[in-house]
Amino acid sequence: MLSRILPLVLALGLLSAAPAGATADASAAEPTVAPTSAPALQPIVVRERPRMKGTARFGKTLTRTVGRYSVGGLTFRTQWLRDGKPITGATRWKYKPRVRDVGHTIRVRVTVSRAGHRSIAPRSSWRRIKHVRDTRRTVKYSIATKGRMTTSVATFRRQVQQILDDPRGWRAGGIRFTRVKSGGSMTIVLAQASQVPSYSSACSSTWSCRVGRHVIINQERWKHASPAWNRAKGTTLLGYRHMVVNHEVGHWLGWHHASCGGKGQKAPVMMQQSKGRNGCTFNPWPKPSERNVPRYR
Ligand SMILES: [Zn+2]
Repeated sequence: MLSRILPLVLALGLLSAAPAGATADASAAEPTVAPTSAPALQPIVVRERPRMKGTARFGKTLTRTVGRYSVGGLTFRTQWLRDGKPITGATRWKYKPRVRDVGHTIRVRVTVSRAGHRSIAPRSSWRRIKHVRDTRRTVKYSIATKGRMTTSVATFRRQVQQILDDPRGWRAGGIRFTRVKSGGSMTIVLAQASQVPSYSSACSSTWSCRVGRHVIINQERWKHASPAWNRAKGTTLLGYRHMVVNHEVGHWLGWHHASCGGKGQKAPVMMQQSKGRNGCTFNPWPKPSERNVPRYR
């Protein structure tokens, strides 16, 4: 009995299949069997998100893991993000935080792909980049001027704060400077060149100087750097400003002058670099050996 029914069922099946496949509506409703559409992409499921490893500090290096996924044979593309936005050129498995990363959040995004699969781009959790050293002293300072000003005092005020906040500067020694309207422990003065010696006969109208609580920046040097600085390759006016502010503030922090440690080395910031470097190269930032300042030992 069954052997006689089965061929009939198969025959009915064929008959009913033929008209369904022939209509346009049916093929649109079932794209997986339509010969013209692409095969569906398979999903990649995250088993473990990418992670950042290392210390989130300026001067240290971060690395990443790619994470773990439901399928193998994957390719990974890395992009480091600052405050959620891609950082130019930061596409390797390791990343050294840059000057402008300090105080901002960093995370890594890994684009995971495989042929026939839908690409995904999971991100790690974020970390805030800290200074080389946590704050151990906060110094209040004020800004003043002396004599006739021929440059923007607002720019001076802003750039001095930037220089003092720079993770390569005294901030790397754990010293944080905050500006107050007047007073504080230190006054940074922008002085007309001819007025610099009015603070002390030991100061010259050619250079900047430090006398007691006063860090005196010579307006001509601030505007034009020094001839030796300008002659050297790759130097900038802002670089000179970093050097002169860090050098004079360095005196306030208790340092005397330093000499070159050896030909080809970076000059200590406390070297009188514009007067001769003895084979050292120009350097606007305190060397690690200069960070432990006498004033706060
Ligand atoms: Zn000096």
